[in-house]
Amino acid sequence: MKSNIYSTLLKLVQCPSITESPDEKNMAHVIYHILNEFPYFHDNPNHLVLHHIPEHDLYSIIALLKNPSPTKKTIILLSHFDVVAVDEYGYLKDYAFDPASLIKELHKVNLPDDARADLDSGDWLFGRGTMDMKCGLAIEIELLRYYAIHPEKLDCNLLLLAVPDEEGNSRGMLGSSSKLLALADAHDLDYRLVINTEPFFPLYTGDTKKYLYTGSIGKLLPMIYCAGKEAHVGEPYSGLNPNLILSEINRRIEANAQFCESWGSFVTPPPSCLKQKDLKDSYSVQIPRAAVAYYNWMILRDTPQIILDKLKKVAEEAIASVLDERAKQVTAYLSKSSYPLQIPPWKVEVKTYEEVYQRALETHGDVLIQYLNQKIPQWIEAGVKDERELTIKIVDATYAYYPEKNPLIILLFAPPYYPSCFNEGLTNDEAAALALVDELIAYAQSEFDTTLEPCAFFPGLSDNSYFGVKNGQSIVHEFKPNMPLWGISYDLPIDTLEKLNVPVINISTLGKDPHKYTERLNLPYSLTVTPAMMMKVLEKR
Ligand SMILES: [Zn+2]
Repeated sequence: MKSNIYSTLLKLVQCPSITESPDEKNMAHVIYHILNEFPYFHDNPNHLVLHHIPEHDLYSIIALLKNPSPTKKTIILLSHFDVVAVDEYGYLKDYAFDPASLIKELHKVNLPDDARADLDSGDWLFGRGTMDMKCGLAIEIELLRYYAIHPEKLDCNLLLLAVPDEEGNSRGMLGSSSKLLALADAHDLDYRLVINTEPFFPLYTGDTKKYLYTGSIGKLLPMIYCAGKEAHVGEPYSGLNPNLILSEINRRIEANAQFCESWGSFVTPPPSCLKQKDLKDSYSVQIPRAAVAYYNWMILRDTPQIILDKLKKVAEEAIASVLDERAKQVTAYLSKSSYPLQIPPWKVEVKTYEEVYQRALETHGDVLIQYLNQKIPQWIEAGVKDERELTIKIVDATYAYYPEKNPLIILLFAPPYYPSCFNEGLTNDEAAALALVDELIAYAQSEFDTTLEPCAFFPGLSDNSYFGVKNGQSIVHEFKPNMPLWGISYDLPIDTLEKLNVPVINISTLGKDPHKYTERLNLPYSLTVTPAMMMKVLEKR
């Protein structure tokens, strides 16, 4: 088993399946061909599916291994086969997908001490995707190969789901969800548990504890559009700079622990601004008319409405502080000059996108709808493919149709949305998954002298999120009116996801430095302990 996993891992790593590259598609074919060599799939060709997702021209792999003793109980083995880009490798980029050569080259490089020690130990395999997460996928493939030969040991049916685009927009998982339901119908399967094999993920810098995750953190991407008041820079007091207002908002949001949610001992990372810019296209001596910022916002239980309420409060406080400071500066300026300044009495309102859109519709009727219907395909055609940039275009155009031209802050959401996935033990399957975690922790301790801790959330985002959707309808109902791209180039198959409400556990491989040029996998742990724990779950007791 160990050597099979290792050679499959090397085969998988060799394919540079960077998200949204042509090799991401090739990777699906590589996996398909590996599985297609199993005699089981020769005998059961309709159990192996190269599933096409036509909207995005992506492929996922679905492979079903049925237990010879008929049972409905089915465990899903989940993984993603895309990897992040390799720019940070610099001149070593050409070796990123060739661990043997990379390791040779790394010996000549000045590495951080920790990476150097690991390199010298010989226990670590370096290379893009070794840790995140082709070893997990290799383990799942080899378990399938093993149980295709020894099906009598299985306590369930196995369904392997390997998806692309996990590091991007999760289009692989989302585009495969209805196929999973169709397969359950066709083969009379009852999905009881999902096992993902993402690597361990530190909860904080320097965290080396090993966790057994029973859920996945959620995320929203709130956006703040700020229309200011343009003015010539020679008379700045006659204008209001949206960069100033957004900067004050950012100062109050960035890494602010007040916005962290807790669940037991688990605490979400605070929000971070992923982008802030004004909407001026070129240099001029004019104060910009509008600016925009968007934020990575991790969630556990907070709903879109709660986030909007929090943002509204921050925005109002920021505006009050900016206007207060402005009044002080005007007073100071007047003490230096005798100019008869006319200072506009600024009133900056905070509205949701829904409110602004409705007001613009009331004023202009279908003209706005027609304008957006015509413009959005043109923007996409012209290369505005990023969903955040497209959202900015839409909110900016909507504001142009808003009748009041006072400074205004608009709160909205851009894709993606990751529901938080958590297990409270409320159903039989959820309770069974939690009991299993206790059992696995005891097993790892007694068998491998390895201490594992339960953790309610996988802290890096993962496709697990889409298996835990419980109140999807109400959440979507809340954020849909404030996500302009909903139904245009983004949407979630929420009915399907609610039906796929299967508890998730993550049995991790061990690695370090995901998404860095020192990404590496610990071979002794990942090739031994991880597969043994999986087998403990899958086999009859
Ligand atoms: Zn991953």
